[in-house]
Amino acid sequence: MALAATGALAFATIGVPAMASATNSPAVVVGPVVSGSSADAAQEAAAPAIRAAQARQQAAARQAAVKQAAAQQAAARAATVKQAAAAAPARAQWSAPIPGAALSEAYGVVDSEYAAGYHTGTDFAVDTGTAVLAVGDGTVVSAGWQSSYGNTVVIELADGHYALYAHLSGFAVTVGQQVQAGDLVARSGDTGNSTGPHLHFEIRISDDYGAVVDPLAFLRGKGVSDF
Ligand SMILES: [Zn+2]
Repeated sequence: MALAATGALAFATIGVPAMASATNSPAVVVGPVVSGSSADAAQEAAAPAIRAAQARQQAAARQAAVKQAAAQQAAARAATVKQAAAAAPARAQWSAPIPGAALSEAYGVVDSEYAAGYHTGTDFAVDTGTAVLAVGDGTVVSAGWQSSYGNTVVIELADGHYALYAHLSGFAVTVGQQVQAGDLVARSGDTGNSTGPHLHFEIRISDDYGAVVDPLAFLRGKGVSDF
């Protein structure tokens, strides 16, 4: 076989060079082709098992990826909750009744027009309907009409003082309701003995007329200054 092939190769090389590679190449490549075919056949036979193994690996990889993604999401959620918990203590404990509102009459101004002979609160000049906020955490002890005060809300604050909001146009709370600093409690107005839209705001040491302190000094003492 080897001889014959060599002879053919020698003859072909001399005779027809173009044919030489044509006739020769099958003889040379026969081996690899045959063995290749059998290898292919072996691979073919093993293919289902290999494919199954590959599929199992891919499925495992996908499961691992899904697990990792879920773990990452859970970690992210936990971090967000942690951040929220850490941020919670930073909630303002006190607020201005109407942050940034302009003062129109100070506390203590002597005027015989007032029953007490002086102004028992601080007035803020704001349009009717302006949001009025709880100045601190507390409980609503009244929300209704109080003669010259018009529509009035009183909140008993956590520190024992009372915050009074007068001349309101509407209520956002009811008696007994717990509020936190900054919560909406009412809308400002022009009800009762009022000469124009404004909020009359008092801080009292008891829920009685005239038992008042300077409301802005009180709030400044709580760290509030946006008025
Ligand atoms: Zn007033």
